[in-house]
Amino acid sequence: MRINVTRSSMPSFEEYCEQIRDLWDSRWLTNNGSKVQALQSQLSDYLHAPQVELFTNGHMALEALLAAMNLKGEVITTPFTFASTTHAIVRKGLTPVFADIRADDYTIDADQVESLITDKTCAILPVHVYGRLCDVKKLDEISRRYNIPVIYDAAHAFGVSKNGVAAAQFGLASMFSFHATKVYHTIEGGAIATGSAELAQKLALERNYGITGPEDVITVGGNAKMNEFQAAMGLCNLRHIAQDIADRKAVHAAYMAQLSGLESVVLPKSQAGVESNYAYFPVVFESREVRDAVCAALLEEGVYARKYFYPLITDFECYRGMPGFDSSRTPVAQRISDGVVTLPMYPGLAEEDIALISSVIRRVVRHG
Ligand SMILES: *Cc1c(COP(=O)(O)O)cnc(C)c1O
Repeated sequence: MRINVTRSSMPSFEEYCEQIRDLWDSRWLTNNGSKVQALQSQLSDYLHAPQVELFTNGHMALEALLAAMNLKGEVITTPFTFASTTHAIVRKGLTPVFADIRADDYTIDADQVESLITDKTCAILPVHVYGRLCDVKKLDEISRRYNIPVIYDAAHAFGVSKNGVAAAQFGLASMFSFHATKVYHTIEGGAIATGSAELAQKLALERNYGITGPEDVITVGGNAKMNEFQAAMGLCNLRHIAQDIADRKAVHAAYMAQLSGLESVVLPKSQAGVESNYAYFPVVFESREVRDAVCAALLEEGVYARKYFYPLITDFECYRGMPGFDSSRTPVAQRISDGVVTLPMYPGLAEEDIALISSVIRRVVRHG
C-alpha cells in the first residue's frame, strides 16, 4: 500500500468525455477557444476577480505578470515557498530580496518587508502559504504608503477568503496555480486574477507572442496559452470544488483530533476570519532530526509525506554564493523549513490512513 502526499481530484470519465465531445466537431483545440473562454468567465465569478487571464501553468502566469508590469530592480519576497516564486523573479532579470516569515502562519513578515524597502524596490511578492492568507491589511498599507505594487503568489489560495473577501481581491494581482497537485486543477494550468483591465490586456499579449492581429505584433511576448483539454478539465472540476474543500476540511479535522496534545509538535492554526481551502496539513517538529525520523518512519509504512518547503530557496544549489541568498538572515524561515513536513491531504483520504499516519508520528515523537 502507498499513500501519497496528494491525489488529484478528477471528474468521472463520462463527465470529462461529455465535456470534450464537441472538440471533435469544432477541431478548435487551443488559442482562446470556447472552453477557455467559458472557464475564464466562471473563474471570474468564483474568484471574485473582474479580470482572469488563463495560462498553461502558474509559473508562466507569474513570469508573464512580472513582464507585463515592466518591472526593474528589487522584488521583496519570501524564501519559504516553492522554487517557482523566486525563479520567476530571477528569470525576469529582477533581484529578489528576502524577508523573514511569521512564526504563527509562515507567511511573510510585513514589518520586515517595510524595513527592506529601498529606492530600487519595484514590487512586493508575498505567498499565501498552505492556503492561509498573508497579513493583507498591513501589506496593503505599505503598498499605499510607498506606492509599490503588491502581487500575490496565491498558488495555494484557491477558494480562500477572509471575512467574505476573496483572496484574489487583495493586491494588484494574484497568481493561481491549477497544477494537478493543487486543490483545484486543470491538469497543468494557472491564472492571473486582477482588477485592472489594462494589466489583463498586457497579460494576454505576454501569453501569445504580443500578437494583436493577423499582421500586428506589438510586444515580444512568449507562448503560455491554456488549451481546450485543460479548460475542459477545469470546467468539470469547478463543479465539484465545494465538495472537495468540504472533504479536505474533514481530513483536517481528523488530523487535528488525532494529533492534538502532542508536546513539541506544532499543528496548523486557523486564522481569524479566514475560510481556508485546507490545501496542506503542515506539521512542524522541534528539529530537523525529529522531522527526518518521522519522514523515514512514515516511508516504512508506505506513506509519502513531503518536506514542503525544505530546503529554503536561499539554500538551493543554483543560487549558492549569490549575494542576498543567505538563510541565516531569515532565521524563522530556516527553523520552520528544518522542522516541517506536509502530511498526505486530499479529499477522501481514509480515516484509517489518517489514524495510521498519526500513530507513526506519536510513536516517533514519544520514543524517538
Ligand atoms: C505550484 C506552485 C507554483 C507554480 O505553479 P505551477 O502551476 O506548477 O507552475 C508557484 N508557487 C507556489 C507556492 C506553488 O505551490
